[in-house]
Amino acid sequence: MQQIVVSKPGGPEALELREAPIPVPGPEEILIKLAACGVNFIDIYHRTGIYPVSYPSALGLEGAGTVVRIGARVTRFKVGDRAAFCLGPLGAYAGYVAVAETKAVIVPAFIDLETAAAILLKGLTAEFLVRRLKPLKKGDTVLFHAAAGGVGLMACTWLAHLGVRVIGTVGSEVKADLAHQHGCDATILYRKNGFVDQVMRLTDGKGCTIVYDSIGADTFMDTLACCETRGLIVSFGNASGPPPAISPLELSKRGSLFLTRPTLFDYVSTRQELDEAASSLFSLVQSGIIRPLIGARRKLVDAASAHKELESRNTVGSTILIPEPSE
Ligand code: NDP
Repeated sequence: MQQIVVSKPGGPEALELREAPIPVPGPEEILIKLAACGVNFIDIYHRTGIYPVSYPSALGLEGAGTVVRIGARVTRFKVGDRAAFCLGPLGAYAGYVAVAETKAVIVPAFIDLETAAAILLKGLTAEFLVRRLKPLKKGDTVLFHAAAGGVGLMACTWLAHLGVRVIGTVGSEVKADLAHQHGCDATILYRKNGFVDQVMRLTDGKGCTIVYDSIGADTFMDTLACCETRGLIVSFGNASGPPPAISPLELSKRGSLFLTRPTLFDYVSTRQELDEAASSLFSLVQSGIIRPLIGARRKLVDAASAHKELESRNTVGSTILIPEPSE
């Protein structure tokens, strides 16, 4: 089967295509023939070494396809089921993957496999960001950076569905239009003039109940200035590099702020949490509230181009990779 590996940390050129044997599932694993793999920013962190892995390493955490073989102790899946996963193991950039059955979900009939690969990791992230960090009520205002991205579009839609007013930052006019269509009440083109003044103007000087920052280095200090007194800063990514270290006093100075640095893996750490989160996500897709957007489909062999596009801020919504149809 085809597989993308990274032999040492580096740029997109560090991604290499190789032929690998189809994995044999362990007793509690299912073997999935992948219809599509999701591309996520975390794949870039694994490739560059911001999140170290042991090299050479397979890449990719998310995918969806058909179960073609099951281990002896598997109880929840049978051959022919449609399954998706996003919690590893590393190796989703491939034709087949063996996944622990506890880390996979059944894809409901109303979701096609490409869409499942496009939404699971990003949509489950949106779920915990929106529903499980701090109670939000109708009329609260939040700031969401990179609102037209993969996580961004789904999170903003979900927040708006709860009656929350969303201010989204975006890198272009096209992205601004898209963010408006997916729940943003106001957008800020933050590349030229920053965003703090506009956020304060849009909130009558009060700031936001929650500020979601996945950009990191370039935005984090200004992000702190956009929160209301006793508001919550959610630092959940490093698209421009890791955010700077700060003293707890910085939080005190800016109005007794709360700061969290969450990761999806801790919010779907049990089977029950994974099932509940996936079910919330899928039901919003079924009801048409979340409208998944696949901004780019690339062949698996073109994984390096897909990484270049994501890193150069040229994508909207989700990017997926399609493996070669094989035996
Ligand atoms: P996106 O589709 O959101 O792509 C990233 C976007 O970030 C870009 O399109 C761009 O939007 C913006 N951006 C700003 N500065 C930069 C920069 N220097 N380089 C690249 N992009 C930049 O990606 P994902 O949906 O995959 O992920 C979004 C974020 O969420 C990532 O930071 C990721 O690590 C994080 N994440 C965290 C999780 C967690 O559990 N903590 C789980 C999943 C994702 P624009 O042009 O509008 O500025």
